Amino acid sequence: MKIGVLALQGDFAEHISMLKKIGVDTAEVRLPKHLDGLNGLIIPGGESTTIGKLAVAYDLMEPLKRFGKDHAIWGTCAGAIFLSKDISRSDQPLLALMDIKVQRNAFGRQVDSFETDLDIDELMKATGTEHPYHAVFIRAPIIESVHGNAKILSALDDGRIVAAQEGHLLATSFHPELTSDTRFHEYFVSLAS
Ligand code: GLN
Repeated sequence: MKIGVLALQGDFAEHISMLKKIGVDTAEVRLPKHLDGLNGLIIPGGESTTIGKLAVAYDLMEPLKRFGKDHAIWGTCAGAIFLSKDISRSDQPLLALMDIKVQRNAFGRQVDSFETDLDIDELMKATGTEHPYHAVFIRAPIIESVHGNAKILSALDDGRIVAAQEGHLLATSFHPELTSDTRFHEYFVSLAS
């Protein structure tokens, strides 16, 4: 099992440490050839416009789209934006792999970042645990709606969607790499295998 982390911008190093913690081989992905031999890919949080621009500059757009057709990809925060089909504007590159509509910066500015506990049934079932998942939101997007085969994994009490899954594709508004809870990484690895 080898999982790559897109290492163009953002907090890829934190994802690498989480994967190492659960005993998974990792690779930093900056060029198309770095996708060879990977079972899955994580796209980290950061700034989705920058990640998109750099992916275009490094000729990664098509290789990433192809990789996502038959491999697991998980986008966290900016990564979730980059994975989505629709963000109600067309001025930034998107992989458009996941049938979800996302709204950027939906909770406001940096100062409106927050943390909350989520009950995520699918995650608890998959990891055989019962305690809630502590989620960290930093200038986070929300998933406005899910379409086609995409399904809701988790929503806030007010109904706003913060995690979704479409087969082997996963999107979270929050940052599981910034906690010490490895359950989301374990869940993703199970999708990749
Ligand atoms: N606000 C960023 C964006 O729109 C995402 C923030 C994050 O990844 N923490 O791309």
